[in-house]
Amino acid sequence: MKKVGILSLQGDFEAHGKAVERAGGEAVFVREPEQFGEIDGLIIPGGESTTMLKLLHYEGLMDSLAAFGARKPVFGTCAGAILMAHEVSSPQQESLDFMDIGVERNAYGRQIDSRVTELDPEPEFLDRTAPGKLEAVFIRAPIIRRLGAQTKVLARYRGDPVLVEQGRHVVATFHPELTSDRRVHELFLEKL
Ligand code: GLN
Repeated sequence: MKKVGILSLQGDFEAHGKAVERAGGEAVFVREPEQFGEIDGLIIPGGESTTMLKLLHYEGLMDSLAAFGARKPVFGTCAGAILMAHEVSSPQQESLDFMDIGVERNAYGRQIDSRVTELDPEPEFLDRTAPGKLEAVFIRAPIIRRLGAQTKVLARYRGDPVLVEQGRHVVATFHPELTSDRRVHELFLEKL
């Protein structure tokens, strides 16, 4: 069984643990640098990206995380997607540059900052998984404003990319760990 690390400093890492198990993986809650050697891939959960960054530095995990992403698959949801971007705005902050994307934080504004909706995934997603709409929970989500040439969009919401892959890495600006649909976590497990 594939071992999927879940960065467990802050945010909804427990829900990802359950989602990984539903998708057929073994969840490993990562809090120490040594644990990067035991896992096949890593999930960076949703939460608060600024706080997560501070904790990554405080716990001395930044270098091991950067080295891990340079050779192994990483899946970031919401705050995790922000950490994986090349550039971050609103406000600007440090990021890991695992994917060639630019993201704007809290980009849906205050009025509709959280919602549950249904997405029609792109054929690239459905060909690899199964047909059907994808329920998506957005919580103070970022918007992906720039896509590099190596990226592939797997689902959009109101025209904006919300599920994007680049080689071994994936980001979602919504929270697939909060719904019972396993397909997004299965897609990540296929990369390990
Ligand atoms: N708004 C948060 C941030 O900017 C992300 C929200 C989330 O992960 N649900 O980090």
